[in-house]
Amino acid sequence: LNLAREQARRKVENTATELWYYINARMKELAAASGTGTLNNMVRGMQSDLQGYQTVMTDDFGALREAGGDGELQRKESLRLGNLVQRRLEYLQNPKDCQRAKYVLCDLQKGCGFGCQLHHVTYCLVVAYATQRTLVLHSKGWRYASKGWDSVFMPLSNTCTEVSGSTVHWGVSKSQMDAAKVIQLPIVDSLHPRPDFMPLAIPEDLAPRLNTFHGDPPVWWIGQMVRYLMRPNSHLQEEISSSKQRMGFKGPIVGVHIRRTDKVGVEAAFHGLDEYMQHVDAYFNQREHRESIPQRRVYLATDDPSVLADAKRRYSKYEFISDNGISRSAALGSRYTDSSLRGIILDIHFLANTDYLVCTFSSQVCRVAYELMQTYHGDASAYFRSLDDVFYYGGQNAHNLRAVEPHKAKTKDDLSFDVGDLLGIAGNHWNGFSKGTHRKTSKSGLFPSYKVVNDIVAVKMPTYPEVKE
Ligand code: GDP
Repeated sequence: LNLAREQARRKVENTATELWYYINARMKELAAASGTGTLNNMVRGMQSDLQGYQTVMTDDFGALREAGGDGELQRKESLRLGNLVQRRLEYLQNPKDCQRAKYVLCDLQKGCGFGCQLHHVTYCLVVAYATQRTLVLHSKGWRYASKGWDSVFMPLSNTCTEVSGSTVHWGVSKSQMDAAKVIQLPIVDSLHPRPDFMPLAIPEDLAPRLNTFHGDPPVWWIGQMVRYLMRPNSHLQEEISSSKQRMGFKGPIVGVHIRRTDKVGVEAAFHGLDEYMQHVDAYFNQREHRESIPQRRVYLATDDPSVLADAKRRYSKYEFISDNGISRSAALGSRYTDSSLRGIILDIHFLANTDYLVCTFSSQVCRVAYELMQTYHGDASAYFRSLDDVFYYGGQNAHNLRAVEPHKAKTKDDLSFDVGDLLGIAGNHWNGFSKGTHRKTSKSGLFPSYKVVNDIVAVKMPTYPEVKE
């Protein structure tokens, strides 16, 4: 794989995708504005023609990704580098001499849902990796499982699971932190000072390879942390395998996560089932251009039990798969009962194992699934459609975009910038435009999404030379 060629390929694919968002949104406006006469017929004809172009173009990009065996190389490289990260984590987490090892201590009792708590532990593991300190997790009395983390997952360490000795809180002077045996971490919202290695940073020594095979390296990196944390214990593994059998989970399959109940109106807007299914339809239409798909399958995860019946009734062409009993316990999700834990873990596991995700990235449940999904594919960074936010990591350092084209504001809602300028991203409107804040002028505004690329930050972290690839 060649870095320059891969980046050029992804750039043209991204520009084409943003062009499609733009055309699609403008054609809908045109259709609405063109009344019912000849012009309207013309617009509708164009919409249908354009759909054909879009289907073939998406498929062509897929072929280009695979061309000359590059897809296979990409998958192998992702697997190889991922296994290296896993072995580094095993090495870090299993010191030979617990007396001499240094630790970070993390408490699972963050008052929030499973996805949010998992992201809390993920940040702790990132700190552990970047400071080369073994992570110890206090999880007894966990609201999701009173017996703690190990009741579902493999223990984070097989050698050193308790800490004693001089303990300081994160944020005391550097020399005090360096000298301390144990550093206790706060929740990410209270982390001061904020280290430069926090997501969305990636380790400098892995960056050249990671930037070559992956379209969104920070997500892959976070996914590797989640992979280590969510290694199922033998009991959970059995449950996953039997659920897979029982449900008949197999590809090609799209994962749909519909987050409702306590989230709607508070942290996210309501989105109807049709909004999700429109993207599922588009995915299968495009895939059917290449291969015959005897049965369109959707893995449906939701905290609203009424959604599944509604989906089955209204989309009879689809087979909806969902873990029986999960919907019932998911409805209790926000009450954090033990019984809801297996439901949410299985939902995340199966969502991550699909070919494409349709969801709202405002939900940590879907973001965890998307992160984990990266570890199963070579590069799954484009295998999603979020109905609201772009991907983010709660508590992340600034997510910046770098301008690759200049932009002159035409209206007061627009943002002007020059090539090379940094913009903090506020969101993608999925209509060809994104919103951001100019880092130098602090002005906010809209701009065409194709004029920027992600600014990937690589930070020096320990390189674990003891661990060979
Ligand atoms: P967020 O609030 O969606 O960002 O994610 P959190 O994980 O922090 O909290 C939501 C909680 O609601 C989850 O942890 C689950 O307990 C429950 N929940 C939400 N969506 C689902 C789902 O699709 N399946 C299951 N089983 N539970 C869910």
